[in-house]
Amino acid sequence: MDGKLYGKVVVITGAGSGMGRAASIIFAQEGAKVVAVDYVGETAEETVRMVNEKGGEAIAVKADVSHWDDVNKAVEAAVEHYGKLDIMVNNAGVFDGFKPCLESDEALWERIININLKGVFYGCKRAIQQFLSQGNGGVIVNTASVAGLGAMAGGTAYTASKHGVVGLTKQIACEYASQGIRVNAVCPGGIVTGMTRDLMSDPQTDQLIKQTTPLGRWGEPEEIAEAILFLASDASSYITGEALRVDGGWRAK
Ligand code: NAD
Repeated sequence: MDGKLYGKVVVITGAGSGMGRAASIIFAQEGAKVVAVDYVGETAEETVRMVNEKGGEAIAVKADVSHWDDVNKAVEAAVEHYGKLDIMVNNAGVFDGFKPCLESDEALWERIININLKGVFYGCKRAIQQFLSQGNGGVIVNTASVAGLGAMAGGTAYTASKHGVVGLTKQIACEYASQGIRVNAVCPGGIVTGMTRDLMSDPQTDQLIKQTTPLGRWGEPEEIAEAILFLASDASSYITGEALRVDGGWRAK
């Protein structure tokens, strides 16, 4: 299989659904070997089946990004099966249901920060260790959100976690640029995935998203996967430390 990522090895977290699944399929179609990571093992395996059906190559790894040993296991699987790691997509995340500060208890705060922010930190750290040991650079793409660029696209914990992802992305990009490592983030707006299924079925929220978004509709996971592909490929070779909005114009207003 030829393509923009021919010969590249990629780990994608949150690959069992939504944008992670779409990215797994598109990356494999572009010639990458994909390690599809999710803490729901069956969904990661289903993604692998979908990749295989389209002629692509992938393996599934059941791992929770909020645990270092699991993140390590995912990267080790890439090295063991495919010999190296070229691209890390830290995409796994969970939503806080728009909970404001006073309704956010410690358990919610810890769950959101542990998965959305600590998980991305672990993914970046483990990938950079691998890239440096290989000595040939590497690429990281983190999934942040429009909630990482301003208020009112999530609750307190989610917004804090996604602002953290944007800050972490910029900092790490500067720290490791001289070693040939690029680090960027995508900031999706309202996208049709497992995360937003309930929100979409509420007519008020559905209307709100459509009114807030200049393009007047929800985005499709493939539209985010294409942006992740751009940031992961050589087409973006001079871009690092960027938080790219893919939001139908939401934050342009
Ligand atoms: P999704 O729920 O469809 O997919 C997320 C996947 O991540 C699921 O398969 C889930 O099992 C997995 N996951 C969750 N916690 C995990 C963990 N600890 N370890 C491993 N896997 C875990 O949601 P999605 O919309 O595709 O979300 C992908 C990313 O996009 C998330 O970071 C989310 O915050 C972000 N995002 C989503 C939207 C949206 O509107 N859907 C908007 C902005 C940002």
